[in-house]
Amino acid sequence: LISTCWEMVVVAEYVKYKDPKQPLNVRIKDLLGRMTLAEKIGQMSQIERENATANPGALKTYFIGSVLSGGGSVPSPQASVQTWVNMVNGFQRVALSTRLGIPIIYGIDAVHGHNNVYRATVFPHNVGLGATRQVNSDPALVKRIGAATALEVRATGIPYVFAPCVAVCRDPRWGRCYESYSEDPKVVQAMTEIIPGLQGDMPPNSRGTPFVAGKRNVAACAKHYVGDGGTYLGINENNTIISQHGLLSIHMPPYYTAVSKGVSTVMVSYSSWNGVKMHSNHFLITDFLKNTLRFRGFVISDWQGIDRITTPPHANYTYSIVTGILAGIDMIMIPYTYTEFITDLTYLVQKNFIPISRIDDAVHRILRVKFTMGLFENPYADPSLADQLGKQEHRDLAREAVRKSLVLLKNGKSANDPLLPLPKKAKVLVAGSHADNLGYQCGGWTLTWQGQGGNDITAGTTILNGIRSTVDPSTSVVYSENPEPDFVKHNQFSYAIVVVGELPYAETFGDNLTLTIPAPGPSVIHNVCSNVKCVVVLISGRPLVIEPYIGTIDALVAAWLPGTEGQGVADVLFGDYGFSGKLPRTWFKSVNQLPMNFGDPHYDPLFPYGFGLTTEPVKGN
Ligand code: BGC
Repeated sequence: LISTCWEMVVVAEYVKYKDPKQPLNVRIKDLLGRMTLAEKIGQMSQIERENATANPGALKTYFIGSVLSGGGSVPSPQASVQTWVNMVNGFQRVALSTRLGIPIIYGIDAVHGHNNVYRATVFPHNVGLGATRQVNSDPALVKRIGAATALEVRATGIPYVFAPCVAVCRDPRWGRCYESYSEDPKVVQAMTEIIPGLQGDMPPNSRGTPFVAGKRNVAACAKHYVGDGGTYLGINENNTIISQHGLLSIHMPPYYTAVSKGVSTVMVSYSSWNGVKMHSNHFLITDFLKNTLRFRGFVISDWQGIDRITTPPHANYTYSIVTGILAGIDMIMIPYTYTEFITDLTYLVQKNFIPISRIDDAVHRILRVKFTMGLFENPYADPSLADQLGKQEHRDLAREAVRKSLVLLKNGKSANDPLLPLPKKAKVLVAGSHADNLGYQCGGWTLTWQGQGGNDITAGTTILNGIRSTVDPSTSVVYSENPEPDFVKHNQFSYAIVVVGELPYAETFGDNLTLTIPAPGPSVIHNVCSNVKCVVVLISGRPLVIEPYIGTIDALVAAWLPGTEGQGVADVLFGDYGFSGKLPRTWFKSVNQLPMNFGDPHYDPLFPYGFGLTTEPVKGN
């Protein structure tokens, strides 16, 4: 009997790292001490969802530490919450069946709400949030958006988001300018308040230490480190030519704040600084971010970012791996070529091209995040969160954000003849391709990587729906996408609302040297506004060329990329709420002036940075 008892004790061996009562560092050290090189390299590897689905055994064979959904990568079209949960839990089950049972951390681009998921709440893209100008007003707004996004992401079983993008976009020709809150580092810094929203409030005096409060929060990722918004001509992934002082005072400040707020991870930028690829920059990643700023979370590469250290991509892969990992990258996003990566990295460590101390540091950081956020204790989706996705409270919050993001640039041909707020009893013409198009108003990074047009892409309210439900029941609202001038002239409309703008895009596909309003936008503006009083609502990720039409237009509103809650636009146009947004970017007259940011010598904008007219809400409306 005694010997049987002993056997039972031996079977239930006490495993220190599995005990949540042990201090964090003890758990990490214990686990790290048990890991083989293969297990360590697996932790550093992040592979794409498609690959993990195609070969679930690979998660076990290679001890993969993380899986991601690359831009718009979903388990199936219009996948339900349950489909997502089944998929993520399924990967987790495989990871937990390995010898040490280290949970995977699944990551996704939830950059304006949980934007890959059908029926999720889609918030305005960052440029619109930048217009709410949190510096002195309402820092709680983005924090609340972060908290709501975290709940929707957790509903699908996912604990990690590649957000916020804290780029300081200095040139609107860049295709990712809308992912940037502002050209002003101070505004971007203020917006890092989204981090405690996503991750939860961290305990005092824990600067630099990654923190995620628990099951209702997610690990965040400040990206793209650093200088992504300063590339030459705004060309995506290009070279940022700037002095060290310029880099530290314009592009770095958001990272000071993000690290002090306990951001869990930082993603490295594809771009270069003065000709050196960021993915190979030891000084900025290790000396500055990790040692000077004392960032203790993990540094993740961008998608195939290591491959791009050398040109052409993927040439001399071993050189790229050594350079990137020695620079300080801890987790490597290798969506497809993971077997090659793992083989090469193993060889490089065995031959001492990469010291094991560097590998241990990387794994230590990854495990720290996983332990801190409670992944070992709660590796699976919490079913009680299933109803968080797209819930009314979150939609109301998104609608509030839309209202606060609208910037009124012109109101009436003269100051004493304002057109806005619009009366609710009237005969209204609504025109333009963007008035009734949910996909257009959401922009890129919505259900698909590049975004797409259409109203069935997800659930939400178009601007036209919003107008229709706001006006007096006696009001007739006529919608014509591209009306003939005669039609406008002869119908005696009280006024017209013209909604035009950019078509969805993401990353390099959005780089644009002309920044003109796509056709037929300009002719719709002309045909409508020359014949009836009009307000133009511009849907765009950045300022566009508007000067040639500004004389024809009676009122002009920059609505950015408002997301699924188009009702917020109508709320303000008709005076239920006032206009309060301020330009987060300089509005140029001509693209020949670019780059042009506030504080520049010869600053001569159409509308200066910070500009925005206000209106009072209409009482008893
Ligand atoms: C983008 C990142 C994104 C990653 C994963 C890259 O192309 O630059 O911002 O997080 O893909 O989807």
